[in-house]
Amino acid sequence: MMQNKNITVTSPLLPDLGEFTELLKEIWDSKWVTNNGSFHERLESALAEYLGVPYISLFTNGTLPLLTALQALCITGEVITTPYSFVATTHCIWWNGCKPVFVDIEEDTCGLDPDRIEAAITPRTTAIMPVHCYGRPVNTEAIQAIADKYGLKVIYDAAHAFGVQVNGRSVLNEGDMSTLSFHATKVYNTLEGGALIVHDAATKKHIDFLKNFGFAGETEVVAPGINGKVDEVRAAYGLINLRQVDKAIEKRRAVAVRYREALRGVPGIRFFDDMPGVRHNYSYFPIFVNAKQYGSTRDELYFRMRDAGVYGRRYFFPLISSFSTYKGLPGADPSNIPVATRIADEVICLPMHHELSEEDINRVIELIVR
Ligand SMILES: *Cc1c(COP(=O)(O)O)cnc(C)c1O
Repeated sequence: MMQNKNITVTSPLLPDLGEFTELLKEIWDSKWVTNNGSFHERLESALAEYLGVPYISLFTNGTLPLLTALQALCITGEVITTPYSFVATTHCIWWNGCKPVFVDIEEDTCGLDPDRIEAAITPRTTAIMPVHCYGRPVNTEAIQAIADKYGLKVIYDAAHAFGVQVNGRSVLNEGDMSTLSFHATKVYNTLEGGALIVHDAATKKHIDFLKNFGFAGETEVVAPGINGKVDEVRAAYGLINLRQVDKAIEKRRAVAVRYREALRGVPGIRFFDDMPGVRHNYSYFPIFVNAKQYGSTRDELYFRMRDAGVYGRRYFFPLISSFSTYKGLPGADPSNIPVATRIADEVICLPMHHELSEEDINRVIELIVR
C-alpha cells in the first residue's frame, strides 16, 4: 500500500531562488551586509506601505520587539495580559521586571475580554498587552477606553495579524505600539524576523537606537539597548517574499472556505467565520471540539489525525498561566480564566498554508467528519 505523505500544519512561504540570488549578488558586490543597509531600508518602506502603517522598525525576531516596546514605554509594575497565547508574550513582561496579570478571553476572538479587564486593574497596573489571536482583532475600542480611563499603555502582540484590517484600516495602528513576527511558521516570513509598529517619527528613531545597543551616533549611547538588527540577506529575502504574500493569503482563504463548507453542521465541531468588516489573513484555522457532542475528545481526534499523518497543532495548549513558572501569578488560577481553560482543551489548529492541495484538504476533512 502506498504511504500517504504527511500533511504539515504550516509550510514556509519561500521566495523564488532566482530572484533571491540576484539580490544576493547585489549584497556581495556592495559588501554592506548589515547595520541599516539599503535592503533593510527598502523592506521597511515596502512593509509600511503594504501594511498601511506610518512607522515600522524591523527586528531579528518577533520576541525582541515585544521586549523593546515595554522598554521604550518604561513599563513597570503589573501588566494585564492573556493566558491564551504563545509563551513569548508573557516572557517579555517578565524579562522587563514586570508582573504579568492574567485575564480571561472572549469566546469569539480568543483575545482578551474587555469586560474583565477593569476588575484586574490595581494601583500598580501600567499597561495592557492583548494578542490578536489567530489574527482575529480584539475589541480595540473597548480596550483603549479602559486604558484612557486608567492612564495605561496598550501594547498589542500582533504576531498573528500581518495584513489584518478593520474597516479598511490596519489593526496595527491601534494602541501605543504593535508587534509582528516574521517567523517561518507565520503568514509572511523572513525565516526569523519581526517588527515594531509605532505612530511617530521620534518614537521610531528611539526604537532604532534601542535595537542597536542604544547607540545614537558613533560615540553616544542614549539608553540600555539590545541587538535586534536585521541583516541585508534577510531583508532581501523579505522584500521578495512580500511580492507573493497576497497570493498566499488568497490560497489560505480558499482553504478556509473549503474547511467551513465541509465542517458546518458537524455536531460538536465549532469554528470561526469571517468577522464583519475585517480583512483576515487566514493565518490559522482553529476548530473547537466539544467532546460530549462530537463523541471523542480533542486529544483523541488530534492523535487520530497524527496517526494518519495529518499534523494539526494544539494552539494554545497548555495555557501560559499553567506553566510552572507562571502558575502562581495573579489570575493564573483556572477558576479565574474559565473560557481560556475550556478552549485550550478544545482547540486544534488544522493544517493551513498556501501549498495544501484539494486532496490534502479532503484528507483532513475525512478524518474529522465521520
Ligand atoms: C510567533 C509568536 C511570537 C514570537 O515570535 P518569534 O518571531 O518566534 O520570536 C510572539 N507572540 C505570538 C502570539 C506568536 O505567535
